[in-house]
Amino acid sequence: MSPAARHTDRTEDSDRPTKRARVVDEDGEEDSEDEILPSKVRGEPQKASDLYLDTINRAVLDFDFEKVCSVSLSNINIYGCLVCGKYFQGRGRSSYAFAHAIHDDHHVFINLETTKVYVLPDGYLVSDPSLEDISFVLSPTFTSTSVSTLSTAVHLRKPSYDLSNKPYIPGYIGLNNIKRNDYMNVVIHSLLHVAPLRDYLLLSNFRGKESELLKRFAGLAKKIWNPRLFKSQVSPHEFLQEVNRASVGKYSLEKQGDPVDFLGWLLNRLHKDLGGTKKKNSSVIFSTFQGEVRMETQQVLVRPDTGGNEKPRFDIDREIKSSASPFLFLAVDLPPPPLFQDAVEKNIIPQESSGQVRRFKCQRLPRYIILHFKRFTKNMFVEEKNPTIVNFPLRGLDFKDYLDAPASHPSAVYDLIANVTHESAAGTTRDKESTVWKVHLRAGTGGGDTERWFQIQDLIVEEIRKEMIFLGETILQIWERRPDAPPRLRPAE
Ligand SMILES: [Zn+2]
Repeated sequence: MSPAARHTDRTEDSDRPTKRARVVDEDGEEDSEDEILPSKVRGEPQKASDLYLDTINRAVLDFDFEKVCSVSLSNINIYGCLVCGKYFQGRGRSSYAFAHAIHDDHHVFINLETTKVYVLPDGYLVSDPSLEDISFVLSPTFTSTSVSTLSTAVHLRKPSYDLSNKPYIPGYIGLNNIKRNDYMNVVIHSLLHVAPLRDYLLLSNFRGKESELLKRFAGLAKKIWNPRLFKSQVSPHEFLQEVNRASVGKYSLEKQGDPVDFLGWLLNRLHKDLGGTKKKNSSVIFSTFQGEVRMETQQVLVRPDTGGNEKPRFDIDREIKSSASPFLFLAVDLPPPPLFQDAVEKNIIPQESSGQVRRFKCQRLPRYIILHFKRFTKNMFVEEKNPTIVNFPLRGLDFKDYLDAPASHPSAVYDLIANVTHESAAGTTRDKESTVWKVHLRAGTGGGDTERWFQIQDLIVEEIRKEMIFLGETILQIWERRPDAPPRLRPAE
């Protein structure tokens, strides 16, 4: 790009010399990024801009995809054409957006970073209240008041309406399955319904050196909970592209994967990106999901002189070693099929491995407990699936029997908020190609009529009866600690 590509209209330079800044992009493209006065100040172009604003087509606007120029594929300084929805780089005379304005007669462009709207090729800034809904779809904002009711029955009573007047409940909307990313969609939905994490992301304003993953996850949270969507569905494409990059291809939208693996990776990655350390509560991830388990280990003695006929014995004289370790989720072993039983009872069982007996007991339960039901076991040739139905209450699951903590520990009573199930056409083996992942999400709270449940499988969102939640093969659940009863008034000290 040559320096001659600057605006030739230089009459204003003498008036406002300090406002005109010459910006050369990293890729060498020069773009005149002068702060242009709003059209009403200029007077004359006002009419033209009104005319141009009528050409905006909201139905084609979709800001879910990666913000790259449709011509140069660059991601620097990108504008969206509000007439056809395409993305173009720059707005200077030699830019692709400028060329598009001339060749296709499309004149209104939004800067995807700043949400400022410009008319090209004239090059002036438009600020018009009628554009506010577009900048809100591109970059939704929330306040502590607006997030405070998202998990309550109030939220359920006020549906939103998309451009085609279709009602939807923000937060309970479909996510595109671009190729095979349904295993990630269920994790995204589950995490973004955990109030402390959700609210943290909705109220965030990451514009600095935060990781791209964090920025895009927050962006996705804001879209999923956006009460003013044009289309009542969201594509997780932008976030998943970054997941693919950050995980060096391990979690890709091209191939089916394991939601539990993905969840573990994502939680650890977000924790790190949020500046979390090994310390308790050092990120919103730890303060929400991290608990502590105590493990007791005892060596098993095997006598060498029994010719291998005798079973290993516990050596009662050996010391029991106790160690505490933090966890982000608890794994639940399922009983061998076809036993039908409460799976959580299986949580704290002795496990024998490599000459040791271990016992686990929770020392500290987090505000949100993630349970992983270990349904798949690897065998010589195939991954086998345990089809055991897990029976659980939706509300009031008491973890106190698995807790060994001082009386000051908060309530151990939990209510279910998210449930991920697996379906496979291929019986008891794990056929990744014909796998279907679904998530059940609680809306509202408190049981009864103030609480409803939605099942989401990619773009299909349906309200379901509570008893249907038990029928799927549960893989993953998130439980929310029920708040302690309000403290009684204490006598004045
Ligand atoms: Zn266009």
